[in-house]
Amino acid sequence: MTTPKEVLKLIQDQKIQMIDLKFIDMLGTWQHLTMFQNQIDESSFTEGVPFDGSSIRGWKGIEASDMTMVLDPNTAWIDPFMAEPTLSIVCSIAEPRTGEPYDRCPRSIAQRAVDYVISSGVGDTVFFGPEAEFFIFDDVRFDQNASSGYYYVDSIEAKWNSGRSEAGGNLGYKPRFKEGYFPVPPTDTFQDMRTEMLLTMAKLGVPIEKHHHEVATGGQCELGFKFGKLIEAADWLMIYKYVIKNVAKKYGRTVTFMPKPVFGDNGSGMHCHQSIWKDGQPLFAGDKYAGLSDMALHYIGGILKHAPALLAITNPTTNSYKRLVPGYEAPVNLAYSQGNRSASIRIPLSGTNPKAKRLEFRCPDATSNPYLAFAAMLCAGLDGIKNKIDPGEPLDKNIYELSPEELAKVPSTPGSLDAALEALEKDHSFLTAGGIFSEDFIQNWIAYKLDNEVNPMRLRPHPHEFALYYDC
Ligand code: GLU
Ligand code: MG
Ligand code: MG
Repeated sequence: MTTPKEVLKLIQDQKIQMIDLKFIDMLGTWQHLTMFQNQIDESSFTEGVPFDGSSIRGWKGIEASDMTMVLDPNTAWIDPFMAEPTLSIVCSIAEPRTGEPYDRCPRSIAQRAVDYVISSGVGDTVFFGPEAEFFIFDDVRFDQNASSGYYYVDSIEAKWNSGRSEAGGNLGYKPRFKEGYFPVPPTDTFQDMRTEMLLTMAKLGVPIEKHHHEVATGGQCELGFKFGKLIEAADWLMIYKYVIKNVAKKYGRTVTFMPKPVFGDNGSGMHCHQSIWKDGQPLFAGDKYAGLSDMALHYIGGILKHAPALLAITNPTTNSYKRLVPGYEAPVNLAYSQGNRSASIRIPLSGTNPKAKRLEFRCPDATSNPYLAFAAMLCAGLDGIKNKIDPGEPLDKNIYELSPEELAKVPSTPGSLDAALEALEKDHSFLTAGGIFSEDFIQNWIAYKLDNEVNPMRLRPHPHEFALYYDC
């Protein structure tokens, strides 16, 4: 734990010029405001710093736009991408008049979820370990004014198809289709970039572990960091995305976390490992299936029961559902299994160490807001624990190879964002229990997503419609 005094001393010792205050908006993007160093004092960490919160997507209108950023001293790091000495600090949002956490602030929602675990007596610590995959591309062309609102990715793969390699220039080395995973350089051309990304994260306090190319051909990669406490892990995920995008930019590349940028190849997920602990003991370890406890099985029961609604938050974009299709290692069926990567919940083999016992929910993707996604998964799991929800039998087969009769018995993930939003409309009391998400938040979320994403997508002619129908 770092105190405000220690942060203020760091500002003096390191001759920091600017303080970059970052906060997460509703959709999961960092926003920021940069102050001269003498504008920050101890009260900034308690009363906060006022700012104009109008025009922030999904928040207040201009008639009630004053808001306050409350600095979290545990999140201070020197920003490596800014020319002058700049200290970055992550903030939560509060109401200026009352000092209460702003009801729609995702970081405050996550805090309420953690507090609820403690107040309900279930546990005292919740761990999350997200694994966010992404693509590195050369360039993205985006023409919003074109009649179809058409855009395309000038992908490395497209370059290869036209005779160039990932590195530019055809040297004969290229990842073969669906064999991007693991060939050494020179086939893997992103080694140095990923190492720089990972080491930069370490400097910012993220406990780094590894990096590798992923399965998809067009420059898909993944970096790994250790699991952490719920809010800490969400903060690290934000650093992860920030560092990856900014390092890629230094190399003249661009990165996307969208779940399915390339048709016909693997998409990018954000599998989330999770467990609850109390008094230093792992509560998910026991003597039931796969070495799980009853509590863990009920948690799984809660996630599976609420999954259609939960996905409106963990898979919150129209593109999310283009990833959740069979054949690409993305989960489609709502089932659990030990080791089996085709089930939406996997219990990783963790040896004999009970402290490693956890479950991996494989549906989420990195277009989700990590604070909301982690809080929502926890709410679903807690509902399972509270109501002792039976997860049913595990599915220890490759689900993609089940017969149609067997498969018909396994429920599926929703087919689209609108289907998930409809499920959320019908099933959200597991989120509002304990006051973690408010009814206002849920209704605002559904309306925002329909008005700004589902309907604009539905109204535009799609490029593929030209292939299907142009010559009708
Ligand atoms: N890319 C796959 C997904 O969409 C996951 C691959 C893996 O297991 O790492 O979830
Ligand atoms: Mg992966
Ligand atoms: Mg995984």
